[in-house]
Amino acid sequence: MTTNTTTKLSRIRNIGFIAHIDAGKTTVTERVLFFTGRIHKVGNVDEGTTTTDFMAQERERGITIMSAATNAEWKGYDINVIDTPGHVDFTAEVERSLRVLDGGVVIFDAVAGVQPQSETVWRQADKYKVPRICFINKMDRVGANYQKAIDSIIHRLRANPVAIQLPIGSEDKFEGYVDLIEQKAWLFIDDNPTPPIETQVPEDMKAQIKLYRDRMIEKIAETDDALIVKFLEGEQISEDELKAALRKAVCHNKIVPVMCGSALRHRGVQAILDAVVSYLPSPLDVPAAEGKDPRSGADLVRKAADSEPFSALAFKVVSDPFIGRLVYIRVYSGTIKSGSSVYNATTGKRERLGRLVKMHADRREDISEIGTGQIAACVGAKDTGTGDTLCDENSIIQLESINFPEPVISVAIEPKSRVDQEKLGEALNKLASEDPTLKIRYDDETGQTVMSGMGELHLEIIVDRMKREFKVEANVGRPRVAYREAIRQAARAEGRLVKQSGGHGQYGHVWLEVEPLPRGEGYKFVEAVKGGSVPKEFFPAVQKGVVDALTAGPLGGYPVVDVLFRLVDGSYHDVDSSEMAFRAAAQIGAKAALSKAKPVILEPVMKLEVTTPGDFLGDILGDLSRRRANIRGIEGLGDTQVVRANVPLGEAFGYANTIRSLTQGRASYTMEFESYEEAPASVIAAKTA
Ligand code: GDP
Repeated sequence: MTTNTTTKLSRIRNIGFIAHIDAGKTTVTERVLFFTGRIHKVGNVDEGTTTTDFMAQERERGITIMSAATNAEWKGYDINVIDTPGHVDFTAEVERSLRVLDGGVVIFDAVAGVQPQSETVWRQADKYKVPRICFINKMDRVGANYQKAIDSIIHRLRANPVAIQLPIGSEDKFEGYVDLIEQKAWLFIDDNPTPPIETQVPEDMKAQIKLYRDRMIEKIAETDDALIVKFLEGEQISEDELKAALRKAVCHNKIVPVMCGSALRHRGVQAILDAVVSYLPSPLDVPAAEGKDPRSGADLVRKAADSEPFSALAFKVVSDPFIGRLVYIRVYSGTIKSGSSVYNATTGKRERLGRLVKMHADRREDISEIGTGQIAACVGAKDTGTGDTLCDENSIIQLESINFPEPVISVAIEPKSRVDQEKLGEALNKLASEDPTLKIRYDDETGQTVMSGMGELHLEIIVDRMKREFKVEANVGRPRVAYREAIRQAARAEGRLVKQSGGHGQYGHVWLEVEPLPRGEGYKFVEAVKGGSVPKEFFPAVQKGVVDALTAGPLGGYPVVDVLFRLVDGSYHDVDSSEMAFRAAAQIGAKAALSKAKPVILEPVMKLEVTTPGDFLGDILGDLSRRRANIRGIEGLGDTQVVRANVPLGEAFGYANTIRSLTQGRASYTMEFESYEEAPASVIAAKTA
């Protein structure tokens, strides 16, 4: 690799701002775009004028749903900002953003500290090993407490935060910050986007600064063998040494630096950009992309370099009203020119990338080529979906895809008029192609179209978008829970299909064993046939038969999960055995085995967190107990009480309305899917009645 491309790559940052709803992500993003010179007027979330929240209902709801990738420039660095949603009903959006980010800035509210959604996203970021910086926003709010927010990062996120700034004052006296690495103090002049000016380190903060700085140096030194020796021997550690070691520690997920500010008042935002450049990884600092050869299954690696064969991951599909279907890609290796053909390793089809566009918050720019580490959108990749790999046809690789959870809730949806009928199908297909957690199916039994998603709000927003963007009016049925079935114990059963009515007969015969797997493991099939009692050529047919049986469990006809099937024995007939006969026999055997294995119904359980004025606590708890909720904790935060509970999704419908009327609209809550749990006998009785 030439030094030139190394320099270019080292100057790229692919980052996302991650936050609990209302912590200030939109405001921070907006300020960042302003400071990086891409937009010339600062928007305001409360007036609905921000640039990243471009969808109408996002503006109305004041939340960011879709992730728009925006390109910006800061001090010679190329920063791609991938907008992540603040609301956990949009898990898919968070997952896909994290998959392609190299680093994140996690924003916290200085009053509330760590909130439930930050916890969720933090866990997801851990999964993808995304290096992070923390920004304690809203330092100007009454009740802002920097240290308390840091404590909550330690206790609730089990992270290793290190303050690299100290606020000067807080609440309405939040006036500046001390840079603990450079030992300089900075004062904000006004609430405008004017850069802060350097000032004397306040005399009355000197002891506190020493305490925090010593702690910071110790924590940074602990991550570096050479520095820890210096530290223990009491030698001076230079500013450059500290910065270099901190960068390494952040990139390896050992430390999260903490900073402070007030985005609304433009305070502390430039320092975040400096920290993004200084401490978050470039595409060269993250592990090389790993994948497989889809034909041989062999492991492959692509180093981050323009000289490597082209590989990229499609992470988002958007229907753009002006240029059509846009596929956002992140390039992991190589380069690609607009107008060229690439190979989609996921679908096995060739795609032509007609145009390549870089998205800025307020405009798009056609580009002729994109290289390693870059993010852009392409027009023309008709059959490429979220999670697909695009690569060089001569060096095929399939990168690890993005995992999306299965939907937990569904509703029947029908058009209000015949005119809407056709438009409805079209709208749903388009929306589902953009959103991998939205599933659409046609129910033959009821003749209805059913859509499934991740929560009530998720489906409400889809219906909303159909009305607004596609002008389709629809009636929506009652939401239904996506139950599943599992088993409690191992069992063994036989499946036989023997028909001998003249001519050619049918002969399939298997013995199957089934056993429970841990939650979330899905389904596994192994063959353990001795002595060729079932010929190898019929194994795939047996597996198909087992899968057929899993689509409808013995209790309520729900999909069966978390089971391992083992084909252990059987017999065959030289003439009459066929794939079809073995498939049917396996289905019979699998059904019999499941029925004997103490089947149970599983229901989705949601994690709920309610924040309410203390006066309503009793009413909220009373209501929750009627919903079979399991209260996990109640915590007082001044006048406010925070209730954490697990509640079955089937009991949580309409919670938004209930809580509004119980508390005169003064409580707020978040609810997200947590896990599938065994449903109690009474629920099973109701489901199977
Ligand atoms: P998001 O949901 O995380 O995108 O948060 P927003 O950026 O939409 O901000 C939520 C609310 O907090 C809005 O009313 C903002 O004006 C307000 N806000 C954002 N940053 C600050 C801040 O630094 N101080 C104060 N006091 N309010 C802020």
